[in-house]
Amino acid sequence: MTNKASVLLISMMIFLTACSESQPAKSPVSTTSATPTMAATTAASPTPTAAPTQTPAPTPTPEPTKAVPLEVKKDYHMNKNYDIVPNDPNGNKKIILLTFDDGPKEQEMNQSLIDILKKHNAKAIFFFNGYRIKQKPELVKLVHESGNIIGNHAWDHDNMKDMPNAKIDQQVDDVQKAIKDLTGQAPQFFRPPFGSGNDYLKAKIKANHMLYMTWSNGSLDWEMTNNKNDPNKVIENVMKQLHGGSNILMHELPWTVKALDTLLTQLEEKGYSFVDPNAIELEMR
Ligand SMILES: [Zn+2]
Repeated sequence: MTNKASVLLISMMIFLTACSESQPAKSPVSTTSATPTMAATTAASPTPTAAPTQTPAPTPTPEPTKAVPLEVKKDYHMNKNYDIVPNDPNGNKKIILLTFDDGPKEQEMNQSLIDILKKHNAKAIFFFNGYRIKQKPELVKLVHESGNIIGNHAWDHDNMKDMPNAKIDQQVDDVQKAIKDLTGQAPQFFRPPFGSGNDYLKAKIKANHMLYMTWSNGSLDWEMTNNKNDPNKVIENVMKQLHGGSNILMHELPWTVKALDTLLTQLEEKGYSFVDPNAIELEMR
């Protein structure tokens, strides 16, 4: 009898162990079976009607948040002379805006400019032409990802003063689209080739909530006659015209790249600092 009893005990224990072991194996099955039941319940109740309406609502919300560029306090504005001025009358007037036109040309030049700017904790506007963007789209991304700002310098490098309105539209809009497609952000600054525009162009830029500018301190780095290959001449030209709020025009040119580090050092030594283009209001006043 004792033997029978122990056999019974053992077989009971085996049975119990088998039961407890089979439970976790069963549980996922029961969970899966519970889900359709719950779904069926929700399907029957008015809840599912509310659920689909609620679900698409939060989806569009993150999209505008993504599209909004990093907000920088707009502490500066541009005056009629294209100088940059602090909004606070007691603010620091010894500021400089750095700009480089006519790119993107070569990766090496863009990278050097980016590196030198970074060394001096400065940001610049790179005014790009559409036909060059088409040739070197990867450089648009390079400059954008470096934290510098990309401006619109029209599709072609043509004088826009006597251009028909429809062609002006195309020259501006095609560049806006090309840059937005590459960076996700359409430019906020426009500079016409040769600094030459007309009333229609200015009104169009304003209507697009962009800032139209030429410059107030030309480095003359584009003058091929005497200055070619002479970085010192570029520095000398800028320093001669130096004033508070200087909007400095430079180009993607080898001698300008060579001049930049020394130029920025000299400006800093004279007590000037470099304005973040994102801190400039988009309305001229
Ligand atoms: Zn130009």
